Amino acid sequence: MAKTRTQVAIIGAGPSGLLLGQLLHKAGIDAVILERQTGDYVLGRIRAGILEQVCIDLMDEAGVGERMHREGLVHGGIELLFGGQRHRIDMNKLTGGKNVMVYGQTELTRDLMDARAAAGLPTVYEAHDVAVHDFGSTKPRVTYEKGGVQHEIECDFIAGCDGFHGVCRASVPRNALTEYEKVYPFGWLGLLSDTPPVCDELIYVNSPRGFALCSQRSRTRSRYYLQVPLTDKVEEWTDAAFWQELRLRLDDEGRDKLVTGPSIEKSIAPLRSFITEPMRFGRMFLAGDAGHIVPPTGAKGLNLAATDVKVLSSALIEHYQEKSDAGIDSYSERCLRRIWKAERFSWWFTTLMHRFPDDGAIVAKFQQAELDYLIHSEAGGRTIAENYVGLPLDFAEK
Ligand SMILES: Cc1cc2nc3c(=O)[nH]c(=O)nc-3n(C[C@H](O)[C@H](O)[C@H](O)COP(=O)(O)OP(=O)(O)OC[C@H]3O[C@@H](n4cnc5c(N)ncnc54)[C@H](O)[C@@H]3O)c2cc1C
Repeated sequence: MAKTRTQVAIIGAGPSGLLLGQLLHKAGIDAVILERQTGDYVLGRIRAGILEQVCIDLMDEAGVGERMHREGLVHGGIELLFGGQRHRIDMNKLTGGKNVMVYGQTELTRDLMDARAAAGLPTVYEAHDVAVHDFGSTKPRVTYEKGGVQHEIECDFIAGCDGFHGVCRASVPRNALTEYEKVYPFGWLGLLSDTPPVCDELIYVNSPRGFALCSQRSRTRSRYYLQVPLTDKVEEWTDAAFWQELRLRLDDEGRDKLVTGPSIEKSIAPLRSFITEPMRFGRMFLAGDAGHIVPPTGAKGLNLAATDVKVLSSALIEHYQEKSDAGIDSYSERCLRRIWKAERFSWWFTTLMHRFPDDGAIVAKFQQAELDYLIHSEAGGRTIAENYVGLPLDFAEK
């Protein structure tokens, strides 16, 4: 058994783990990241693409925001398409100047990986059988296997940044946590293509044929989604069938402007709302998807992960630099107050925009009425805008 020591053992090299590692490094705190996949595999996962201000600020704080500011696209509004008509929500105006930024999760991950490699910081890829031990004590440990050798890391804290299917949450005794879950009866079929986006901003579509989203990763790369039944298989969807269905859910302007091309990636993602309470177990913390999942309708997943990391890194820095555990003690409660609000918004926006199998014609009419109200009421528009750009970190304390 090869034994080493670090201050913080981070499990998972997704956005949460990498961002946490970078912020701790800036503060002079040692951390090792253990990741079960290869770096290329992590970079190949096509996921989120909309950053809230909190996430942008954190990339800057971590010293890795330069390319993001150069290549990211600032968006001050979104379009809602329903009843065949498009309506713009002017988020910038309704929130007193706040925006979001289009910058792919893969790009953000690449920037963080490059910075970590340039600083010579330890990341163990292809770490197998990662197990967390003794996090209820003052001497937690992490064990793993790499290249046929067993390793043990002694540490002060464990950061569970290992996503929904990770080992950290699964290692907590069942009676020490409560899980809340809602699984939606449909999925999102996503298609990525090197074609210019159909619109400068994102279009969220409520159509009789189901939800669609016209998103983007850059001025030359588009990401489109279709609501599909959970029984659909991605192999059954040809590119031509995808484009045809998207056209049917768009308005005339969208159909005219849509540029189609071969897919670079196509996948079906299930939709789920999921929250774990609490997010701290002795000296182990959950952050990001390890603790909560949102349906992607509100573009909140990556941004919630970033907020957790902001709160956790501040708490750990306070522990080491100021010898205070106040931040550690309030970590779970502080994160969860904001997480529940983002979970609520994501669930509400999903419910408003999708066709549910058991809903009759009356629910479609309710949706139209609510959307019509929202776009004609300044209060309604502001409700969407301030949630979409992201609530302030301590919203409830304002
Ligand atoms: C298919 C899909 C599409 C998405 N689309 C969007 C979107 O459009 N918009 C949006 O806002 N959000 C989206 N999300 C959510 C967003 O991508 C996540 O919220 C974000 O990745 C969370 O980052 P994370 O670092 O917490 O978790 P992850 O990115 O899941 O990273 C966790 C890491 O831990 C590693 N790991 C897991 N188990 C272990 C183990 N036992 N040992 C070591 N390492 C382990 C994993 O390999 C992974 O690299 C999507 C998610 C998925 C799955």
